[in-house]
Formats: sequence, C-alpha cells, structure tokens
Amino acid sequence: MVSEDQQLHVMFLPYVAPGHMMPMVDMARLFAANGIRVTILTTTKNALSFQNSIARDVRFGQKISLEILRFPSVEAGLPEGCENLYDATSPEMHKRFFRALELLRPEFEHHFRRNHPDCIVSDNLYTWTVKLANELGIPRLAFSGSGFFNLCVSHNIDRYKPHDDIKLETEIFIVPGLPDKVKLTRSQLPDIVKTKNEFSSLFEELKKAERDSFGVLVNSFYDLEAGYVDHFRKDIGIRAWSMGPVSMFNRDTDDKIERGGNSCVSKHSCLSWLGSREANSVLFICFGSLTRFTKAQIREIACALEESGHSFIWVVGKVSDSKDCDFWLPERFQENVSGKGLIISGWAPQILILEHPAIGGFLTHCGWNSIVEGVSAGVPMVTWPVFAEQFYNEKLVTQVIKFGVPEKKWKDPSRISIPP
Ligand code: UDP
Repeated sequence: MVSEDQQLHVMFLPYVAPGHMMPMVDMARLFAANGIRVTILTTTKNALSFQNSIARDVRFGQKISLEILRFPSVEAGLPEGCENLYDATSPEMHKRFFRALELLRPEFEHHFRRNHPDCIVSDNLYTWTVKLANELGIPRLAFSGSGFFNLCVSHNIDRYKPHDDIKLETEIFIVPGLPDKVKLTRSQLPDIVKTKNEFSSLFEELKKAERDSFGVLVNSFYDLEAGYVDHFRKDIGIRAWSMGPVSMFNRDTDDKIERGGNSCVSKHSCLSWLGSREANSVLFICFGSLTRFTKAQIREIACALEESGHSFIWVVGKVSDSKDCDFWLPERFQENVSGKGLIISGWAPQILILEHPAIGGFLTHCGWNSIVEGVSAGVPMVTWPVFAEQFYNEKLVTQVIKFGVPEKKWKDPSRISIPP
C-alpha cells in the first residue's frame, strides 16, 4: 500500500466550457482509477455538474478531491451563477466571462503554489500555467480539447498557408503535408485563420504553450486517427498521448445521465421513450453546448424534421436572438411531432442516448467530443459543422474515416451568434 505522501499528486485545471470540462474531468477520474492522487480545481456551480461522480469514485476508494473556488461572476458584470460558457448567450457576456477568468487566475495560482503537486494537467487555453509550472519546477501537461486530426490540419494550414492563393470562398484546396488528401474551402476556415483579430495572439500563445509543455493529452484513440497521431508526434514533433475515448469511463448509468450537469429529461422517461422505438430507427440531433441558432434557423430545422417523418431526438440549443427566453420552438411544433420526436430543450444525457440501440444516426455539429462519442457508440453521422475547428473535424468523418456524410451546406455566419 502506497501512503498518501508517496502517491503521485496531479492537479487538474479544466476550462469552464462543457466540451473541455467534461472530458477533462473524465480524464482526471481515469488518472485516479490508476492509483494517482488527483485534485480538480473548479468553481462552485461547475462543481455541481460532476461532484456526484467524484463522490462515487471516493466511495470506491479513489483518492480524488475537488478544490472549489468562488467564480467572480458579479465582479465581472455577469449574473450570479454564470460560471460556464454554456451560460453565456451573447458576445458581451463572453467578454465579461473572459474578464472573470482573468480575475480568477491569481486564485488558481495560489492553490497550485499551496498544494505544490507533482504535475499540473492544464487545459491548453490556460497558457499561463506553463510559466507557473516552470516556476514550481514541475511538468505541465496540456489538455487539448480537440483531436490529433484538428491539431495537424491547423498546424499545416498555419505553416503552408494554402488558402493564401485561393480567390473564391468556395474553391476547394488540399491541405499540404498530411497523411490524406484533406480537402477544404476558404469558407470553412475559422475566421481567425483568414484575418487577424483580437484572438490571434491567444492562439499564438496557445501553440507556444503546447510546445513548452511536457506533452499533450488528447481525448482520442490511436485507431481513430493513427496517421495523425504519428504525424503530430513525429513531424510536428510534440510529445502526446491518446487517452480516450474518455467518456467511456462513465460506466455507471448515473454517471452517464448526470454527465455535464442535470439533464432536463429523467433517465426513466428518456430510456422508456427510446425503448419504445425500433433498433436503429431514431436520428439524434445535437449541436453541442455552445451553438446558438436564431429563431429563423430553429424554425428551418423544425420544419425539416416535421416533414421528414423520421423518429428523432432533438436537443434544442439556446437561441441567440431572444431576450425573453433561452430556448424557443415554433408554435405547435411539439404537438405536430408528438409520437415521432422527443424534444429536449436544455441539457441532454448525450452519451446515454447515443449508445441506445434505437439510435441509428447522429446529426452532429462536429465538436470533437461528439465525434469521439458517436464513433465509440458505433453511430454513423450526418455532419453539420457550425464554427471554429468543427469544419476540420468534419473532414476526418467524411473524407478520412468515412463514418458519416455531410449535410447539404448551410453556412451563413452572419446569422449565427457564436463564441470565439
Ligand atoms: N453534451 C451533453 N448534453 C448536451 C449537449 C452536449 O452531454 O445537451 C456533451 C456532449 O456529450 C459532449 C460535450 O457536451 O461531450 C460537447 O462537446 P463537443 O466537443 O461535442 O462540442 P462543444 O459543445 O464543445 O461545441
């Protein structure tokens, strides 16, 4: 038996957005299950979304604990309780949110100094942890919120700038230097790649921090993107490990239903609805945690679903153009599709749903976690990327592993309000 003093102590600092926080918490639990003493640094409301799973791990004898800080929402001009990017619905709120994280930084630093762990696993967006880890004389591992494919595509786009010679937004070009012929158009590049903006320097810092870290931890598995794991390690030259699919660490049904917070459907109603469907007959539709559609866009999706006549589960994301409500649906839509569709206006237990035998397809925005979770559940995909690196991720699904088909394109960024 190893005493607590002899046990390696690793502190995790997850970013406060679901697509970063949830896989990182899964990863922290995985470390603890392998005999490492783990501390997760988080804030009050964020802790609520995973503390039950941690309590279960503790009951199973794992050495995992939380250090909970107060999020300075009010000081940054945010409503009380707005502690996660999921809660921020406008560009102004995003700015305030980043301000709150700046205010929180000295508190985080204080906790690292006081605990002096053997290693820091930091979300790669907290670039400042590189300097801190150096100062403490401990390794810093960067957690990447995306996969190797995206890391390689963005690296090579940055290095070769193939889009510089392309005139039309819709003209196809091939990203040089990759294991496969990955085709993209200029319109699919993140804005930050095409024009320098306020976030450009952050991305530069992020890449530097990745290199200056001891290595990178990725929620992926070798067979999913083998060529890109090798390319990242050998050609780009950064030490990295595939740790996924980390969501599969949630074996307990309670872990699955509670993952990411209180789901707005009960385990019972969700499973009994799915249980009433034939195998492979239901399309699951979810655009992740941060996509904000306008009412017009939501209406279009609703009409298409109603007309298709297919069974579906639709996780309706937050609406971007309403001051009165977070969620919105066209009038009578619920009645019109009753019997065919289950509508979830709020947080859904995605991994529980995806692995149900009734699910036959996944219409996804191509967030990295959703792709890994869809593949892990063996569910083919229809890809509908909306912003940022989701367009790159889509190409892994449709052009490389060919586990999905693209939705016939709708991309009108001017109508979409998204965080950076
Ligand atoms: N998710 C969920 N319920 C929801 C919406 C999202 O459980 O209602 C989870 C999903 O399983 C995934 C994460 O949130 O683990 C979203 O991450 P992803 O990288 O797919 O997209 P993002 O939200 O970062 O755009």
